[in-house]
Amino acid sequence: MALTKCKKCGTEISTKAKECPKCAAPQGPKQYNVAILIFPLIIGWLLYSFFTTDHTSSSTNSSGFRGAEFSTLEQCMTGLQKELGAKLRVIIDEPEEVTGSQADGTFWACEKKSTGTKGIYWEGYYKAK
Ligand SMILES: [Zn+2]
Repeated sequence: MALTKCKKCGTEISTKAKECPKCAAPQGPKQYNVAILIFPLIIGWLLYSFFTTDHTSSSTNSSGFRGAEFSTLEQCMTGLQKELGAKLRVIIDEPEEVTGSQADGTFWACEKKSTGTKGIYWEGYYKAK
């Protein structure tokens, strides 16, 4: 039988004793019960934080894509240039689609959209590398 010392009075007692036979101070198993009570709380907290952080990160961490609507191509390109802070380097230059790539690898595009509800507009977006 293993022996341990009472945490309060120092008397040698059995490790299985729930309380000290001399001073009646609660021993080891009592702390074990506290751990069992706290454990589900920690699991619950982890699950809670997992779901809440996962939710916010998926919406804010949308890989740098940013869409905006412009009425003309010129406004779209001016808007992107302001956003990227450098002169736009055009790669594809077509009537309904103008795209390019900046020196730092940022991809950008202005696409002509035609919808029934909004009519014709240009959608500008970019994606940082
Ligand atoms: Zn004791």
